[in-house]
Amino acid sequence: MPPAAVRRRERHLAWTTIAIILVLGTATTILVLAGRLRVATGITSPWRIAFECAAWLSVVEIYLYGLHRLMHTRWLFRRVHRLHHLSAATDAWTALSLHPAEALAAFGVFPALVALHPVHVATIVAVSAFMITALVATHVNHEPVPRGWHESALTSWLTTPLVHVGHHADARANFGAATTLPDRLFGTHRVDLSWYDGERRSPWRRPAAGDSGRA
Ligand SMILES: [Zn+2]
Repeated sequence: MPPAAVRRRERHLAWTTIAIILVLGTATTILVLAGRLRVATGITSPWRIAFECAAWLSVVEIYLYGLHRLMHTRWLFRRVHRLHHLSAATDAWTALSLHPAEALAAFGVFPALVALHPVHVATIVAVSAFMITALVATHVNHEPVPRGWHESALTSWLTTPLVHVGHHADARANFGAATTLPDRLFGTHRVDLSWYDGERRSPWRRPAAGDSGRA
């Protein structure tokens, strides 16, 4: 597929994903306002919010990791997830460039969790905003952190573009979304720190002829 066609396809899929997120968010809000789904509101303890955020983030991360591993099985990759791997070099559009079925399965976890167990509205907003920001940030074409980020236990649990590009370059590793914790848990975490020793400004491999070429 010519590079311009890949870019057009990515933008089209990204706008479809944004529409799906808006529909899911609006439908959840309507169900809450109608009393069909329950969420907590009002002043509450910051410890409650912190605990709920940690619990929600853990569940969402494990779910998205499992979904991503599933997407790399032969049948689902060919029919669904291949669209997310079209570009040789990723950018913010790539992050949301998903087959509609994958977008529904990924972002549908939020209303599903609300339905399963009521949490505070601040938890829903905080975790949703964090996950979407992380998804976009890990696909940008620049590694913003120094080598020490990946060597410190305090910071290396957060996924960066260098970590996620490991997945786009080698689809057997780094399936996690916002954190490296599921990959560490299941033995699929890889980071090529030799990138810091080279002169390349981008961690992405050079695009081959016919790739979308945005490195
Ligand atoms: Zn993938």
